[in-house]
Amino acid sequence: MDTTPERPEGVFADGSRDQRIIDLTIAGDEEALRRFSAKAGTRIERVRARARRIGLTPRIVRGARRAGTRPSRRKCLRCDQKFLSKGRHNRLCSRCARKS
Ligand SMILES: [Zn+2]
Repeated sequence: MDTTPERPEGVFADGSRDQRIIDLTIAGDEEALRRFSAKAGTRIERVRARARRIGLTPRIVRGARRAGTRPSRRKCLRCDQKFLSKGRHNRLCSRCARKS
C-alpha cells in the first residue's frame, strides 16, 4: 500500500480516483470531468491539479490519444515507487529506466 502523505488535494489524496481522472482527462470530456468534480464535492481545477501532480502532462495525454494507450499509476518494478505508467509496456519509473 502506498502510504506516502499527499497533503493539499483533500478528496483525491488517497489515489482512489486517479484512474478515473486519467481516463476522463485523456478522453477530453469536459462535461464528464465537471460532473465528476461535482460528485467528488470539489472543483474541476482541483481535478486538473491532481492530474498534474500524478504526472499527467499534456505530452502524455497527447501520446496516449495518438497511440490509444491507457496510462495508469503503477508501482515501479525496481524501486517500488508509484509512477505514471504510459501503458502496459511501461513498468519502470523514469529514474530507473534511465539507469538501465
Ligand atoms: Zn523506479
